[in-house]
Amino acid sequence: MRSKIINRRIFSATNNPCRNLYNTPRVRFAPSPTGYLHLGGLRTALYNYLFAKSRQGSFVLRIEDTDQKRKVAGAVELLIKDLKWAGIELDEGPGMEGKYGPYVQSERLQIYKEHINKLLDNESAYRCFCTERRLNMLRRDAMKHQRVPKYDNRCRNLTELEVKEKIKNGIPYCIRFKLSSDCQSFEDMIFGGIAYDVSMNEGDPVLMKSDGYPTYHFANVVDDHLMEITHVLRGVEWQISTTKHLLIYRAFGWSPPQFGHLPLIINSDGTKLSKRQGDVTVEDYKKKGTFPLALVNYITLSGGGFEHVPGAGVTLKTMDELGSEFQINKILSHPSRLNPDLLQECNRLEIKRQLKEPHLSQILVNKVQKLVKEKFPNENMNISDDHVRNVLNWATARVSNIDELVSTKFGFLWILPSSKIDLDKELLEKLLKNLENFEKFEQDLLKNNLREFSVNNNVKFPVLMKMLRGVLSGLGEGPGVAEMMHLLGKVQSLERIKAVLR
Ligand code: GLU
Repeated sequence: MRSKIINRRIFSATNNPCRNLYNTPRVRFAPSPTGYLHLGGLRTALYNYLFAKSRQGSFVLRIEDTDQKRKVAGAVELLIKDLKWAGIELDEGPGMEGKYGPYVQSERLQIYKEHINKLLDNESAYRCFCTERRLNMLRRDAMKHQRVPKYDNRCRNLTELEVKEKIKNGIPYCIRFKLSSDCQSFEDMIFGGIAYDVSMNEGDPVLMKSDGYPTYHFANVVDDHLMEITHVLRGVEWQISTTKHLLIYRAFGWSPPQFGHLPLIINSDGTKLSKRQGDVTVEDYKKKGTFPLALVNYITLSGGGFEHVPGAGVTLKTMDELGSEFQINKILSHPSRLNPDLLQECNRLEIKRQLKEPHLSQILVNKVQKLVKEKFPNENMNISDDHVRNVLNWATARVSNIDELVSTKFGFLWILPSSKIDLDKELLEKLLKNLENFEKFEQDLLKNNLREFSVNNNVKFPVLMKMLRGVLSGLGEGPGVAEMMHLLGKVQSLERIKAVLR
């Protein structure tokens, strides 16, 4: 089926020499600048980016801001920043040189004007002078009779003379597309065959509003064509519009790109992703200490796009690996169900990966040092590089987020205890001597040693542990005492015991 479609496209390219069919793919992410980048938006950007990378193609960012009412100041900069944070690099986009620019739709109004004239000239589009009042009436009437509300296409039938007269009288108008009532079909790269007759449920759609701004449908088609976009990957909410777009391509005599629609992203309980349920924006994840590569891998774990090796468990791929291993036919068409446990796992794996690379591990160490200083500004702390690195190595098995390392529970790692503890000084002196002669500060060995010590000195093990925990951390809870000592290391552990004996 797929090869048939490709053949058709190559064949129709003969009328259309400007199409880039034999070359590398060009894809785009086309968000509206309405605020923060959401997880769904990041997913769309990511899959477009990976698709481009997997085929040495280009990834374009186009800002679709024709709905000026919804535009939010600063949103474009934020979007670009978030994409960059996620490791998604633009080949072309706002503020970048490129032969297909400008990449912001509100800067392309002249282009749309020229193109709408082509459709008026070839009679695929017409001017509509209907007032808002009339359109509302149609809507209300349809509701009353339980019909689908749609424009009745009245202005299609105006004569040339009538149109001229209305223009002369300064009556405002929009421009509508003449929908034909034939069923358009296409092979969705993710969902397979889709067929739909738009005119069954819609009146002629507006292409150009009376203020001279194009609608999404019109600008989207014109830009995808002029920017030589070869594959459109976007959210499934746009799938219903694709057959309408195909009609617009046909009216221009253009061959359309290939389309693929990405399924909905849903929460683990099957409900729609919403702010109330948790994190929805990239900003939310960032704030919680999620690493970009972890977030990106998390998205692919729920959305697919990769060979699945049964029983392989979660592995973390670098952006380069994701790019080279991505396969569009492996994207799943059922809703992408998020599993937050996997995000934790990805974040943990990312800490592990960073620790293995000298440059990244130093950055990580510095981050932790900064966190500790912020959290315990007035304390006597141990944040030497070696100690932090030690803690991080230990942490990969226990925490999924470096922020957790400065939580109360793990405070002992950094600060020296100050609270008063019930002490058996004599016993503690003995223990100090014992530990001074004890070389291997490994968890299991330490534990055995402490047990032996409790037996030899006739003290109950739990009593010894409670005292030691207090001495080492000043806390009532936390990891096991032997584990704490291992983490702190010999010098630090003994230092803390000496401090209470002084
Ligand atoms: N501007 C649309 C959006 O906000 C783009 C849809 C498309 O990719 O065609 O999602």
